[in-house]
Amino acid sequence: MIVMKFGGTSVGNVEAFQQVSHVVIRAVEQQAETERPGVIVVTSAMSGVTNLLIEAAQRAAQGDQNYYDEVQDSLLLKHQVVAGRLIEEGQERAALSRILDERLHQFARLCSSINVLGELTDRGLDVVSGLGERMSAPLLAAVLRAAGVKAEFVDAGDLIVTDEVFGGAAPIMHATEKRCREKLLPMLEEGIVPVITGFVGETESGIPSTLGRGGSDFSAAIIGACVDADEIQIWTDVNGVLTADPRIVPDARSLNELSYEEVAELAYYGAKVLHPKTATPAVEKKIPLRVLNTFEPDYPGTRIVEQAQSLSSGTVKAISGIRAMNMITVAGRGMMGVPGIAARTFGAVARVDANVLMISQSSSEQSICFVVPADAAAMVVGELQAEFEKELARHYIDNISGHPDVVVIAVVGAGMRGTPGLAAGIFSALGEARINVIAISQGSSEANVSLVVEEKQITKALQAIHRKFELHKPTHERVKG
Ligand code: ASP
Ligand code: MG
Repeated sequence: MIVMKFGGTSVGNVEAFQQVSHVVIRAVEQQAETERPGVIVVTSAMSGVTNLLIEAAQRAAQGDQNYYDEVQDSLLLKHQVVAGRLIEEGQERAALSRILDERLHQFARLCSSINVLGELTDRGLDVVSGLGERMSAPLLAAVLRAAGVKAEFVDAGDLIVTDEVFGGAAPIMHATEKRCREKLLPMLEEGIVPVITGFVGETESGIPSTLGRGGSDFSAAIIGACVDADEIQIWTDVNGVLTADPRIVPDARSLNELSYEEVAELAYYGAKVLHPKTATPAVEKKIPLRVLNTFEPDYPGTRIVEQAQSLSSGTVKAISGIRAMNMITVAGRGMMGVPGIAARTFGAVARVDANVLMISQSSSEQSICFVVPADAAAMVVGELQAEFEKELARHYIDNISGHPDVVVIAVVGAGMRGTPGLAAGIFSALGEARINVIAISQGSSEANVSLVVEEKQITKALQAIHRKFELHKPTHERVKG
């Protein structure tokens, strides 16, 4: 039994829908040969749709009464083109048109209320932003039926029970598991392929919620864990997880295997392949995840497992860079040996809701530096200046400032653990490329070494490290130092 999740580009246009049909048909055939057959499909909204929905709601709140009308028309067209090409005229297409109409009317009504209120709450936004999946999933189910698959649309509101943190809700697993099993297992028994909305859920009291942007991967993992799937497949438009972003490092290659830990380190650092929470439900049940390419379905992709068995021990697996960061420094000779400075520093950061991506403090204790997203920097510096007003006046602390235009580079690989010389390799690569390292941090898990460099050097830095560790070659061909 498998869960197959299709991302926005996999359902981005007519050709993509056709391609998904082929992939699903083949999976159903393959599953029929197994002891525990079953295919569950989870889908994202058509690409670009979630962004449009959110933008329309935001503009409605700001007083724009026309934009959501335009969006409504373009969304209708976008979905109808697919239906028109892939579903024969008749009852099935008429039923689907009614669903699309109903969703889009709901969208217009919501935007009009948001417009009248002049306010958009996270709760309201979740209702609007979840409509994309609530159109793409019934459409995909109908397209699959037209291609001969016994498919049926299921709304994840009936499956995934979440808390009330709108805009980034967490699943309540025991309740979710019960609903998933009750609803989905009997369908699988009958040979039905459930086609489920990604991204969305519902609170215990029935209010629509979402799992956060990019959350359909997480939906698939939650559902897979609840029904004890044999594999959770994430179908996207690249050949799995790559050693680096190919737009920056053109000879990046797809990895055969990664551990949950490694993918978590990478996802956090913006490798954009998997939603960072995807591994969590899979880890607990030890269900392998696989990242595959809808447009090159024969490519084996990347398997994400508990313990990667590769021969790559001692090597770096992948690298990534996160842009638009600012490095904040709190420094002063009077900080040494004074307890509580770090707590107060991060307390102040938390008060302004800024996310800290990396932290570094040297043992001299004369400075703490940490990295936050660029757009939070001014607020963080302001809050720190207020927090340390007295210390600044007494010159215990003499500098609180931000360093703009930096990137964090993450060098990831569980095999780096306990491998001497690794840091030397990273620094000599950067030294040879004449790149200045502004700060360094390594967690005690040793699966991630993070560095801060100037944003303009990101390309050179990633290429230099990629080359140094020969990540462009298959693992067995690398010369290990
Ligand atoms: N459609 C949602 C988004 O764009 C969820 C997803 O695609 O995973 O964020
Ligand atoms: Mg995605």
